[in-house]
Amino acid sequence: MLILFRSDASATDEQRVAALVQELGASAKPIPGLRRRAIAIVDNDGRIDSARFAALPGVEEIVSLTKPYRMVARDWRPDPTVIRLPNGLSIGGPELFVVAGPCSVESETQIFRTAEAVKRSGAVALRAGAFKPRTSPYAFQGLGAAGLDLLRQVRDATGLLIVTEAMDDLGIDAVAAIADIVQIGARNMQNFSLLKRAGRCGKPVLLKRGPSATVTEWLMSAEYLMAEGNPNVVLCERGIRGIDATARNVFDLNVIPAVKQLSHLPIMADPSHGTGRRAMVRPMARAAVAAGADGLLVEVHVQPDQALSDGAQSLYPEQFDLLMEEVRALAQVLGRTVGGGTPATA
Ligand code: PEP
Ligand code: MN
Repeated sequence: MLILFRSDASATDEQRVAALVQELGASAKPIPGLRRRAIAIVDNDGRIDSARFAALPGVEEIVSLTKPYRMVARDWRPDPTVIRLPNGLSIGGPELFVVAGPCSVESETQIFRTAEAVKRSGAVALRAGAFKPRTSPYAFQGLGAAGLDLLRQVRDATGLLIVTEAMDDLGIDAVAAIADIVQIGARNMQNFSLLKRAGRCGKPVLLKRGPSATVTEWLMSAEYLMAEGNPNVVLCERGIRGIDATARNVFDLNVIPAVKQLSHLPIMADPSHGTGRRAMVRPMARAAVAAGADGLLVEVHVQPDQALSDGAQSLYPEQFDLLMEEVRALAQVLGRTVGGGTPATA
């Protein structure tokens, strides 16, 4: 970090900065200049908060030389993180990880029928929410603990891995007890107490991007998870707020190659929330795979017209089946494979 002084800064201003650098456990190296002087902070392990200097007299500008998300940054770990999962599956390696399922667990019949359908098409994990973050308090909020219990039964019966959302500090332990991957939803991306708990939950975490979050904010949230000791973090792009109502969100595919440069963490894509419209899901899922996503999260429902949440963006099982065929073909072109291989019936 470089702290640049105003041209009229006094020697006392510089000494004050140097003293604070030392107090924070790093070393200050003065950089002389004819008109403007600066202090470089050396031995900075990335934990020094630049805001501590911004308010000091004589300080004009602070230039960060390293990323604020130290553990998440590729500078820190050049090799990609590969998350190892049960059933020999992984995220972040050559395999594409495809997760599918309804937005919410609604009933035993609905969840079992949907799980069996997505499994037949080649999904390796079922994603469904038992606790749902809904914009309206009057909308279906999920089955809660009963929904988790149904997910446990689905896991036992089908062998599919389970991805499901933890909405708050109170519920996360119950979710982590049955989930193979704990989802942190878009609206909770900056719920820092939840992130800290998720960092200690003992399960991989799928961190969705907040609807208005910058990439830096998103990666800082991932840093919270890693700083608590959880190395198994997968990012998930799900669209950001835009100006046009043609789609529910702007599905930001730019971030896939951008995040690959900035971070070693895997990144998946959710074209269902990214578009909000069934007809747009398959094309954008293909685009996400082509852009380098490590996996897909796709909403599928056996009866989308009767879904209690997100029916308009949920694929019919036949459409998901087609998408899986397309993903397998794309994977081949891209030199990747699809986790779980080709289902016997496909
Ligand atoms: C969901 O995954 O169903 C969901 C609510 O997603 P998001 O947090 O991305 O809105
Ligand atoms: Mn949903």
